[in-house]
Amino acid sequence: MNLPYKLSIVIPLHNEAAAFPLLLQALRRALADWTEAWQIVAIDDGSRDATWQAILTASREFTDGVADFKGVRFSRNFGKEAAMLAGLEAAQGEWVVVMDGDGQHPPALLPEMLRRAAEEGVDLVAAQKRERATDGLSARWLARLFNRFMHLATGLDLSNACDYRLMKRHVVDALLAMPERTRFFRAMTAWTGFRQADVPFDVPPRLAGATAWTTGGLIRLAVTAITGFSAKPLTLIFRIGLLGLVVSIVLALQALWSWLSGVAVSGWTSLTLVIVFFGSANLLGIGVMGAYLAQLFDEIKARPVYLVSARVETQAHDRRRATRGEQEIAE
Ligand code: UDP
Ligand code: MG
Repeated sequence: MNLPYKLSIVIPLHNEAAAFPLLLQALRRALADWTEAWQIVAIDDGSRDATWQAILTASREFTDGVADFKGVRFSRNFGKEAAMLAGLEAAQGEWVVVMDGDGQHPPALLPEMLRRAAEEGVDLVAAQKRERATDGLSARWLARLFNRFMHLATGLDLSNACDYRLMKRHVVDALLAMPERTRFFRAMTAWTGFRQADVPFDVPPRLAGATAWTTGGLIRLAVTAITGFSAKPLTLIFRIGLLGLVVSIVLALQALWSWLSGVAVSGWTSLTLVIVFFGSANLLGIGVMGAYLAQLFDEIKARPVYLVSARVETQAHDRRRATRGEQEIAE
């Protein structure tokens, strides 16, 4: 692959019309001393506000001798994971960084991440959240529960991890070579096992707008992340089944003994408890299998992860300023 840039910056955007221009200003300031050619790849993930207009404006203004610009517009909202994938596919840099479009992944941290990458010769520099003060208490608690379970199930420690990650080209290529449609970017990069450096940072408040995540959406993400990365919940069902078998043998012996010794009928409570326990354990087991089945169903359909309705590409580095223009496409 031809790599015309030293650095690509991938930015997923969903209703970020207000924050995106501010983020670009911050990026321009952060990389003021950067002399190598670089590129911005902005993905409009089905925004209902003026995000695409902001991308078009930026593609004209930002390329004023600063950096080249690529914009991709999805036909609808496909989710942040899809947007990040589209960005990685479009990026042509030797290094690629993924950054939120709302300023919560501060561009001011980028020079430090680049410095660490150069000095320590690592393949991956991951920004780690130090403070989660901008998250609510329940969000923090849910995140902790999820990370603990993820660690237990997959051995990957994702506590404090986020999607603000700088990757060398071969890490990006490794990610793009993974064929799954249900994607979980931060776990997939950790899974590759390439040498990683961590850079801690405090999460600032959003530059503008509001988060699009709902608790339901986060729980769905957690379920697909776990079922996509580990079959441990399935073995867990098997173990619960084994435990149940042992308990039921003990209960059977006890029942037999009371029958033989002519003890009067008793044990309504224990019977109820046993029925309720195994009834719900059964349903839980079916539910877990259902989650895997749903995952398989989505993978086997093999639909595209996203659909593109428009692209824009403008070039500026070495001041060619040749605008390839906006083209509506029907791929
Ligand atoms: N985002 C996206 N598609 C979505 C939801 C969010 O591309 O369906 C983008 C969003 O524009 C932002 C980033 O993903 O750039 C993180 O989203 P957000 O700030 O809402 O999440 P949080 O900061 O709470 O993790
Ligand atoms: Mg945010």
